[in-house]
Amino acid sequence: MRIIMLGPPGAGKGTQAEALTKKLDIPAISTGDMLRDAVSRETAIGLKAKSFMDAGQLVPDDIIIGIVSERLSNPDCANGYILDGVPRTLVQAEALDQQAVAIDVVLSIEISDEEILERLGGRRACPNCNAIFHITSKPPKEEGICDECGTELIIRQDDNPETIKNRLDTYHKETKPLKEYYESKGLLKTVDNVPGVEETTAAVFKVLGI
Ligand code: AMP
Repeated sequence: MRIIMLGPPGAGKGTQAEALTKKLDIPAISTGDMLRDAVSRETAIGLKAKSFMDAGQLVPDDIIIGIVSERLSNPDCANGYILDGVPRTLVQAEALDQQAVAIDVVLSIEISDEEILERLGGRRACPNCNAIFHITSKPPKEEGICDECGTELIIRQDDNPETIKNRLDTYHKETKPLKEYYESKGLLKTVDNVPGVEETTAAVFKVLGI
C-alpha cells in the first residue's frame, strides 16, 4: 500500500504514520525527519534547509524532490510506504506522479487551527528516534524521556508560537489545495481528528479498510 498523509503541522500525521508502519510493516517516510537529520549532521542539504525550517517556511521543491526520490528507490519501499509530510506543494505532487509507482490512497487528517495551536505547544519529540509525544494526550511513561529509546525529549525549534503560525499559513496556502488535486483523482479519504491517539488510529484503520 502506498499512502500519503495530508494535514496541517501537528495534525498527528507522524503519530498515525507510526501506527500504520507497525500495522502494515512498510516504512514511514517523513521529509521533516530526514531534513532534521540533515540539519543536525550539517550536510549540504541540511545547511540549505535550516533557515527555511527555522522560519516555518517550506524548503525548496527541488531539494525535497531529490531526497524523496532517492529514498523511494531503497529496497525497503518495494512493498509500499507511508509518505508523511510530502508532498506539500503541487510541484511536489506532480513530481511524485512521475515516479513509476502509483499512490493508492491519500489520507487527510482534519483538525482546526485552534486545536493545532493548543496541541503544538505541548508537543515533545525524541531527537534520536523521532518518536512524538504530547504532555497531556500522549505522555511518555517517564516524564521527559522517550519510551522507545530512553533519550531525553526536546521541544522542536519550530514549535514556537511565531513559527507555528507561519507553518499554518503555509499549510493553508500551499498544501491544502492538494486535497482538491487528489480528490479529483479519486484518491482522497478524510479522517476527523478525535480526542485520543488510539481513537484516531482506529478511525484511520477503518477508513483504509485495514
Ligand atoms: P514537519 O516535521 O513535517 O512538520 O516538517 C518540518 C519542516 O521541514 C517544515 O516546516 C518545512 O520547513 C520542512 N519540510 C518538511 N517536509 C517538507 C516538504 N515536503 N516540502 C517543503 N518543506 C518541507
